[in-house]
Amino acid sequence: DSTGSPDTLSNYDESDDGGADNVNVVVRVRPMNQRELANSEETCVQFPGEGQLWMDGYGKDPRPKPFTFNVVFEPDATQEDLIEHSGITRLIEMALDGYSCTVFCYGQTGSGKTHTLTGSPGLKKDFYSEDHGLMYRSFVYLFKCLDQTKEEGVTYSVRASYLEIYNEQVLSLSLELARFNSGQVKDLLNPNPSQRSLAVRWSKRQKRGFYVENLFTVECAELDDLIAVLEEGIANRHISGHAMNEYSSRSHAMLTVHVTREEKENDEGVYISKHGKINFVDLAGSEKTKETHCVGQKLVEANNINKSLLVLGTCISALSDPKKRDGHIPFRDSKLTKLLADSLGGNGVTLMAKSLLTLRYAASAKKIKTKPIVIMDPRDKLILVLKREVTSLQKENNYL
Ligand code: ADP
Ligand code: MG
Repeated sequence: DSTGSPDTLSNYDESDDGGADNVNVVVRVRPMNQRELANSEETCVQFPGEGQLWMDGYGKDPRPKPFTFNVVFEPDATQEDLIEHSGITRLIEMALDGYSCTVFCYGQTGSGKTHTLTGSPGLKKDFYSEDHGLMYRSFVYLFKCLDQTKEEGVTYSVRASYLEIYNEQVLSLSLELARFNSGQVKDLLNPNPSQRSLAVRWSKRQKRGFYVENLFTVECAELDDLIAVLEEGIANRHISGHAMNEYSSRSHAMLTVHVTREEKENDEGVYISKHGKINFVDLAGSEKTKETHCVGQKLVEANNINKSLLVLGTCISALSDPKKRDGHIPFRDSKLTKLLADSLGGNGVTLMAKSLLTLRYAASAKKIKTKPIVIMDPRDKLILVLKREVTSLQKENNYL
């Protein structure tokens, strides 16, 4: 529902842990590219009805394989269609309300992940065009929501970070912004001094869970600040892409928007704050998983390069059928899944696909039931608990 405002989000009861919700799985089929057209290739998918997709059979079994998803976007779908009908606006509203959400794009290299999330990759000058992707459009929507919800006593603050995971190393994609903010002068001889691997840690404090230590997070007072984080990240990702062949198809890029909502509870200055976030993840190309067929050193290499993607697949199948693994979800086995643990165990996933294998992966993700949890400060939680206790005591003693 693209017209909904955060106010419409009333169906999530904080006290109800059983409010399981299906993960949204959306499939976008891209148009044929020049090469495919030149080779007069034929499409291998059919769209028999809403949310349905048939993939042509092959080999011994020529029957078409049917799949059902929340939404199936046909090749003529626009970027505008994606933001309006993919359900992402609802995730943004949930992030504003204190939930952790994730949008990720999965598929082979060339299937349109980056196109869908960021629009034309690296084309900074063309960025303000019809082509802008889901991230840009989501940010516009987020700030529109914030403008519309000027509630008395409620303030929101937005922060963002952009990182990349390559070969199980976490690197910040916000370099200049970080330097600018810290007042450092650009070191021309060593343009990337802060481009070093960051540690993923776990903290119990404020239910923080897994986080990236020393990751630069940009305060975003307005939409342009958030767009600046995105643009810088795209540019930095692009540079790396030149430096190393196929880099972008082997790395995961994740932009996280953190939203803190502070609400004044009473005139004594008690504030309740909720921390929500939304991750946008452009995953490494899924074709690399095929390399698991290799042996010895090559297997080790392939596993490491794409460990995060492999573990994500395992987590998704474990989440979609918890009985299979005694309820154990191996989030801790890779950097990416650690960082997505709260939202995968909590909220939404979006996928896009090209191959049959991808569709199976997507179909399995659709089965995940999540239990959205609002993250609150422990201090605020304690206040709420005490308040409830006071109220019930007052009731008991007929004060109310
Ligand atoms: P990936 O990130 O999955 O490797 P890209 O997003 O880079 O793939 O897409 C590969 C190429 O296909 C790019 O040139 C991109 O502009 C184009 N492309 C992908 N999806 C679409 C689409 N829906 N409409 C038009 N062009 C697309
Ligand atoms: Mg890409």
